[in-house]
Amino acid sequence: MKQKLIAGNWKMNGSLAANEVLLQGVQQGLAQALNGKQAQVAVCVPVAYLSQVQQLVKGSGIEVGAQDVSAQEQGAYTGETSAAMLKDFAVRYCLVGHSERRQYHGETDEHVAAKAQRALSSGITPIVCVGETLAERDAGKTEEVVKRQLAAVIHTNGHCISEIVVAYEPVWAIGTGKTASPEEAQAVHAVLRAQLHAATEHADRVQILYGGSMNAANAAQLLSQPDIDGGLIGGAALKSADFLTIIAAAAR
Ligand code: PEP
Repeated sequence: MKQKLIAGNWKMNGSLAANEVLLQGVQQGLAQALNGKQAQVAVCVPVAYLSQVQQLVKGSGIEVGAQDVSAQEQGAYTGETSAAMLKDFAVRYCLVGHSERRQYHGETDEHVAAKAQRALSSGITPIVCVGETLAERDAGKTEEVVKRQLAAVIHTNGHCISEIVVAYEPVWAIGTGKTASPEEAQAVHAVLRAQLHAATEHADRVQILYGGSMNAANAAQLLSQPDIDGGLIGGAALKSADFLTIIAAAAR
């Protein structure tokens, strides 16, 4: 059975002291949360803390993730971080196309696809975020939007596409406390799975995560849906007890 992946997105939160407390808490409770079962766990942290977090999680089984990567390989791109640099810190995952990057930094579908390609070519698994705004959902455009966003990544990354992770994150559910119902989320995940099937014979091994106010109370129901292979967790990943409860709900 495919393991579920629970990835925390710390966003622009943390400090040296707070990161240590948070990760100690997660590590102390991890074995109990897994209860002899298995789940993959990652934390996508601010780039400034990669070195610290790499040291803190060593030997724990928790993977390190980044929140963004440059679409460029190297050179005169002030402020950017290349995939090769992330790899120096044992980064296993990198978010690409998070809605906050699309919204505040004008990232286009093509830009996101180029970032996914850079990550893949450095051996980093891109977690490709897709999702509709409330206006798009109300206009009945959810399917069209998520398929367009994923199509750009499939088109650019061709045969590597089974190596990505997809995160369906309805924009209206991120940080708002509003969650897609398990049935609403499953319906979109099924659409994304079908799109992956059309692109690769290995579509079933692609993990499709749900993100958007997943928390300790609603994780089990969301994670029980057939095409929900894990969660991308924002706010609840900053509290070790909540993050551990979500991990426990994902363990199989
Ligand atoms: C996110 O930022 O990816 C996210 C899902 O945030 P939250 O869980 O806080 O809605």
